[in-house]
Amino acid sequence: MYCVNCGAFIKEGHSYCTNCGRKRVDIKPVEKEIVIEKIIEKPYEKKASDKVIYILVSITIILSIFIILISNTI
Ligand SMILES: [Zn+2]
Repeated sequence: MYCVNCGAFIKEGHSYCTNCGRKRVDIKPVEKEIVIEKIIEKPYEKKASDKVIYILVSITIILSIFIILISNTI
C-alpha cells in the first residue's frame, strides 16, 4: 500500500505513513464497490429499457388489432 499524500510505501499493518504521518487510505475496496455498482446499474437500465420497448410494442399491436376490427365492422 502506498501513501496517498507523499507516495511512500506503507508496510502491511501500519495505519499511518512512516514518511509524512498521513493516515493510510485503502483505495482498492472503494474501487471494487464502484465497479460492483456499475455492474449492477447496467443490467437494471437494460431491463428498464426492455420493459419500455415491450410496453410500446404491445400498445402498437393492440392499436393495430383495434384498427383492423373497426375497419372490418365499418
Ligand atoms: Zn506519506
